Amino acid sequence: MTSREPALPLYHLGGRCRSIPGPVRTVLLGATGSIGTQTVDLALQHPGEIRLEGLTTRSRVADLAVLVKRLEDVGAADRPWISVLDIDAHAAAAADPILSRRLLPPGEDGLLAAAGLEGVDCVVNGLVGAAGLAPTLVAAERGRRLALANKESLVIGGGLVAEAVRRGGAEVIPVDSEHSALAQCLCGRSPEELESLILTASGGPCRDWDAVQLANASRADVLAHPTWEMGPKITVDSATLMNKGLEVIEAHVLFGVAYDAIDVVVHPGSVVHSLAVFRDGAMMAQLGAPDMRVPLLYAITGERHLPLATDRIDLKALGALRFAAPDEERFPCLRLARDAGRAGGRMTIALNAANEEVVAAFLADRVGFLDIPRIIASTLDSTEPADVSDLETALAYDREARRLAKERIPTL
Ligand code: NAD
Ligand code: MG
Repeated sequence: MTSREPALPLYHLGGRCRSIPGPVRTVLLGATGSIGTQTVDLALQHPGEIRLEGLTTRSRVADLAVLVKRLEDVGAADRPWISVLDIDAHAAAAADPILSRRLLPPGEDGLLAAAGLEGVDCVVNGLVGAAGLAPTLVAAERGRRLALANKESLVIGGGLVAEAVRRGGAEVIPVDSEHSALAQCLCGRSPEELESLILTASGGPCRDWDAVQLANASRADVLAHPTWEMGPKITVDSATLMNKGLEVIEAHVLFGVAYDAIDVVVHPGSVVHSLAVFRDGAMMAQLGAPDMRVPLLYAITGERHLPLATDRIDLKALGALRFAAPDEERFPCLRLARDAGRAGGRMTIALNAANEEVVAAFLADRVGFLDIPRIIASTLDSTEPADVSDLETALAYDREARRLAKERIPTL
């Protein structure tokens, strides 16, 4: 199956989440990242609702030990399982009194073991990039509630995730703020009522820049996001509008809506998080402060609105909401993503892989801002569309696209 034609929406339109008695026993993949630390913050605020049974990091061992200690102090964890990907960092974890108590093996084996731990209700996937796909598949096969921040899983493996979810009986609840907004708007609705989706985009820090300014945009310019504080990769994706492109594909896979019926509007304030349009013309929007803890709490607790100390939007102070069309000439990544999504399968894998490679090169000051869409487009031009039927094929296409993209990135 390709991501072109999801047989059914991955998100349970019309249904409700399972009710889980007691705290939701949760595994947190990518605990030391932006999504990860915000999830830990929620567990600290709500130890009666969220209990962490496992936490993973790539290499930030000292930070992870601090997080575990804090969680144990409030009763939101008790000797949780730990996975550390990097081999040297794993050796440091083995010498740490807190992390060594229940330490999984290093590398992907430990990460996948964490994703599939027994006695767990919910897996929060806060990993960045294609590395999130295999753990998503494990959690889906095990029938977990999957609070999915890692959008790349759905972009590169939408069809595979859909099959694993159906086999395992998992619940997929999006954490991406736009898709959480849509899930909130669609709660209790049937697919037949829905006409189209509108994703909002802040436009990023370079929204009003001209071509000359964009050509000279530095790493520091791009990392200064106006409304959201996030990890470096997604912050660059927000500036190029690739993030919105990936989110169009994510929405297609999650909600089973055709590409022509998924629109994007630039909305600089990030107050309206997205909108659903129904067959009678009624539009539903979800509004709120730009705080990822809102969609995270909603997803982990099975779509419940629990008390949360975060900013409230003061509509009188705000006065007005602004919307505009995105400029696909200055920000071609949005169109590249839509075209790749329509082609499906291998093309979305190549889009994502080329983007990950060229964004890493941009963050290392090896390419300019406008090289990002140029190198992705050139990689896609050299890729033949194909269906993707299993993880091995997906990973082989991913490696091949990374090789093509790297050939196009100047060496130092
Ligand atoms: P981040 O870079 O802050 O954190 C990523 C985490 O993943 C870290 O804990 C890191 O140790 C771990 N990690 C990185 N590479 C890994 C690998 N190869 N194998 C195993 N672990 C690895 O990223 P983030 O901003 O938290 O984003 C995480 C995901 O959530 C992304 O898919 C992003 O698009 C999505 N998302 C993030 C936000 C946000 O506000 N940060 C909002 C919406 C969606
Ligand atoms: Mg988003």
